Amino acid sequence: MKLLSPLEKVTHPLFTEHQLNIFIKRDDLIHPIISGNKWRKLKGNISQAKKVKATGILSFGGAYSNHIHALAYACQQQGLKSLGVIRGEVAYQHNYTLSWARHWGMELKFVDRMTYKRRDESAYLNELAAQYPNYFIVPEGGTNEFALSGLADMMAELNQQIEFDTLMMPVGSGGTISGIIDADNNAHKILGVAVLKESEYLHKRISSLLSQPTKSCSNWQLLSNFHRGGYAKFSIEDAKRIIEFSRITQIPLEPVYSGKMVLALLDLIAQGYFKKGHTIVLLHTGGIQGLGGMAEQQRINATQWPVPSAPPAQ
Ligand SMILES: *Cc1c(COP(=O)(O)O)cnc(C)c1O
Repeated sequence: MKLLSPLEKVTHPLFTEHQLNIFIKRDDLIHPIISGNKWRKLKGNISQAKKVKATGILSFGGAYSNHIHALAYACQQQGLKSLGVIRGEVAYQHNYTLSWARHWGMELKFVDRMTYKRRDESAYLNELAAQYPNYFIVPEGGTNEFALSGLADMMAELNQQIEFDTLMMPVGSGGTISGIIDADNNAHKILGVAVLKESEYLHKRISSLLSQPTKSCSNWQLLSNFHRGGYAKFSIEDAKRIIEFSRITQIPLEPVYSGKMVLALLDLIAQGYFKKGHTIVLLHTGGIQGLGGMAEQQRINATQWPVPSAPPAQ
């Protein structure tokens, strides 16, 4: 699997006007299926699963989860079984994301919302461990201590590719930004864009994932005002702006993560947030598979977005 992802210069009239240098680290191009930060986070988890001689990986996700999609494929490639504990109804198994996951051999276990809420409780995890004794259990989103090393790889690549001032990324469960803060060790400004509402709890989560020497680093910031209404929510106007940005820059985006990062960047630039001459790197965390489910639900117009190919009939 090719790991080094390209770094591209992004040209846009607003960047020229404000004399900013914007680059994008295309982690969405790591691999056609398993792209972005989900691969970065899974890498160490797969090594750990093999180290403890697990025969499979069990993890958690919503019915359209990028993590579940990536996990199913990665496990198939690595000769591991995979089991997805999915929030919601069995009927979701036919949706875009889960059809692919089943195609790659993932077993799905659907649970109601109340049960899903217990996904981090040790009593529930013990029950699952007893039920699936040979499975290595990975939290939702792949975010745990084993996720961090893959982000350190990404930072090592990036530091070879460019000198920069700020690195920006979308933040969901906080695993990606934690790995980045940890590896960066105070060298750059790290700017996370929270894609969900009430993200304040993430500060604690991030801090708990950081290693002792980086816990005191203050070079990072979590922007909590760019969630656009909440997780996976966006307005028609937001969608228009993201599509327009993709058209100008030729960068494929989706509205849940990378699109919200771009909207935050455009708004911050318009507010004069960045100094002239500043070099900003955007981390493209992938997630394009999510467009498949959104097109299916008619939440987006499939002709305006880079919707990936449909799963094989089964
Ligand atoms: C999961 C995900 C994120 C958020 O990463 P966290 O480590 O959960 O903060 C960002 N972008 C994409 C495309 C994702 O799938």
